[in-house]
Amino acid sequence: MLREWPNCYFCQLCLRNLETGLHLFTVCPVSCIIWASIRAWSHCPGMNPANWETASDLSTWFFNLVGNSTSTAEAKGARSLAILVAWSIWCERNRRIFYDAVKTTTRIVEEIKENARLWVSAGAKHLATIVDRPSSE
Ligand SMILES: [Zn+2]
Repeated sequence: MLREWPNCYFCQLCLRNLETGLHLFTVCPVSCIIWASIRAWSHCPGMNPANWETASDLSTWFFNLVGNSTSTAEAKGARSLAILVAWSIWCERNRRIFYDAVKTTTRIVEEIKENARLWVSAGAKHLATIVDRPSSE
């Protein structure tokens, strides 16, 4: 359907590569800075882009990122955090396309941390196992 949205062939985060889902979330240097910063902050070693294997699709990448274990609190927390980071990257991509506005990676990472703490405060007990506690506690 034609919606007359701008067609941006290039990734709006790095402006160096054609935009694909795999590039945006797994290879883009801007996204990798965000993932690495979250890795340094959280207790989730799988979020280190330097250790990621090349994946052929997003679902393979996601399961490599958070592990296939479904039973541990850490695995459940890692999945929540990975979804939050991916969502934040997606929102930044959209902000740049539709609002012609840019946040720094530092600001994006700070907002991810704030949102993770908010989720923990709201009862995300598994996420609490891999991120720090809100400063008010
Ligand atoms: Zn990119």
